[in-house]
Amino acid sequence: VSQRLKGKTILITGASSGIGKATALEFARTSPEDLKLILTARRIDTLKEIAAEIEGFAKGVKVLPVKLDVSNPKEVAGLVDGLPAEFKEVDVLVNNAGLVKGVAQAPSIAAEDIDVMFATNVTGLINVTQAILPIFKNRPDGGRGDIINIGSIAGREPYQGGSIYCATKAAVRSFTDALRRELIASRIRVIEIDPGQVETEFSVVRFYGDKDKAKKVYEGVEPLTPDDIAEVVVFTAGRRENVVIADTLIFPNHQA
Ligand code: NDP
Repeated sequence: VSQRLKGKTILITGASSGIGKATALEFARTSPEDLKLILTARRIDTLKEIAAEIEGFAKGVKVLPVKLDVSNPKEVAGLVDGLPAEFKEVDVLVNNAGLVKGVAQAPSIAAEDIDVMFATNVTGLINVTQAILPIFKNRPDGGRGDIINIGSIAGREPYQGGSIYCATKAAVRSFTDALRRELIASRIRVIEIDPGQVETEFSVVRFYGDKDKAKKVYEGVEPLTPDDIAEVVVFTAGRRENVVIADTLIFPNHQA
């Protein structure tokens, strides 16, 4: 893996915690030679700490923390122009930023929670993809690059109380599949990775910060760790160019 990813530029959304952070660390651990990591999220101070951590153990990795709210179209539109020249040639985009707000039956889901889930998980992911795709398409050596979208088991198996979140992840799945077909003649790989239960801040955000409720979600199941997903992301990106691991579902043993 490390040789194939040598010299690559990787952009990760939602890199300030959970799966996104673990993915940044995993790229740096396995591919430390000339790697460039663009870490984006809203919490810029946390990104700076992660950047310092990575540069502390992986001397060949350059890290650029960038404040980016994927649900803010203006910020996304300015993303590429704002990148310094040495970080502009993005090779791998990991569309990971996402959240779930509230667990409630469909009729009682708050309008603002619906908006924030769609604006982040769907429109945000699409907007970031549209911003980065021209870099992939306009390379002098022909179109090339990886788009890795973090969906969810929720996009395949909707559950009660999660109708909106499930709908956003089903939308990610449809978008990913259609984009893969649109780009089939190019060397651009479009990939979906769907985690099951992973213990991260995600669950705490879902219950508006209530950690006790968040813990209860995992009763009877040992959830995956963010590293379990990060390893698969990096493995998938590190395959030789003719190999597309297009669609992966990963969940903990015993998750119903
Ligand atoms: P975390 O809550 O730990 O991480 C979510 C990340 O998304 C944070 O870095 C957060 O950063 C970022 N984020 C949230 N909103 C925005 C926004 N508007 N703009 C930019 N970044 C944003 O959760 P996970 O690591 O678990 O989640 C990562 C992805 O994995 C999500 O897409 C989620 O749906 C998916 N997933 C998670 C599962 C789980 O069980 N944990 C299961 C299946 C899928 P910041 O707050 O700094 O902006």
